[in-house]
Amino acid sequence: MSDKVNFGDELVSPEEKTRRVGAVFSSVARRYDLMNDLMSGGMHRLWKDRFVNRVKPRTGEAILDMAGGTGDVAFRMARRGAQVTVADINADMLAVGEQRADARGLDLTWKVENAEALTFADASFDAYTIVFGIRNVTEIPAALKEAHRVLKRGGRFYCMEFSSSDWPGFAKLYDNWADKLIPRIGKAVADDEESYRYLVESIRRFPRPSAFKAMVAQAGFVRANAEPMLGGLVTIHSGWKI
Ligand code: SAM
Repeated sequence: MSDKVNFGDELVSPEEKTRRVGAVFSSVARRYDLMNDLMSGGMHRLWKDRFVNRVKPRTGEAILDMAGGTGDVAFRMARRGAQVTVADINADMLAVGEQRADARGLDLTWKVENAEALTFADASFDAYTIVFGIRNVTEIPAALKEAHRVLKRGGRFYCMEFSSSDWPGFAKLYDNWADKLIPRIGKAVADDEESYRYLVESIRRFPRPSAFKAMVAQAGFVRANAEPMLGGLVTIHSGWKI
């Protein structure tokens, strides 16, 4: 790996991006859930509910929640009876998640994994989910290829991610909120302005729904679909492995 990649608005080596993303999430882990509520006005809970309704987890099926962080999406799927493995590159995020799962009496499997190079065998899972995670991954096509590999035939791929909205008025409102207020809230609540500036920049840089849908199809998924909300600020992507 030698070409430069974006870390927010900065160009860095791929190795440096992976290292810095790790530092961001180690820094925000303890305050991550509170910050999600503050940054989205609680909306992330509704988006995650809607996402899990699309996934339709079934009792006993094996689901990999990639970049699962502190477990928000995994808990919703485990409550519906799925056997959920939460994987994330960051051990600090997973440690917070395990504590939260214990407090809720939920039984999940937790594993440190890089989405770009998974240690799971081929055809291990019925569904693969990744929520607000893939824009942080350095080599996104590699992660999509791995998602395809670890899914069984007939397996479902679901991804929810932010991008820029194409509703002009709303996009302007969001930009003001994101540029001015999110880093300030990050400073006040988590004493970390820079990490939250990175999160805002990474949202702006993520491909538009149609472009990401093409990447999902390129990885081998059929019936790749994009369901944009708020003009594409948040999109649920899906695909099937046949
Ligand atoms: N899915 C959770 C949620 O929606 O609350 C957490 C999302 S959090 C914004 C992004 C997560 O992606 C972090 O926990 C981070 O450690 C993880 N991540 C970033 N790069 C990764 C990679 N290459 N492989 C696995 N996880 C990664």
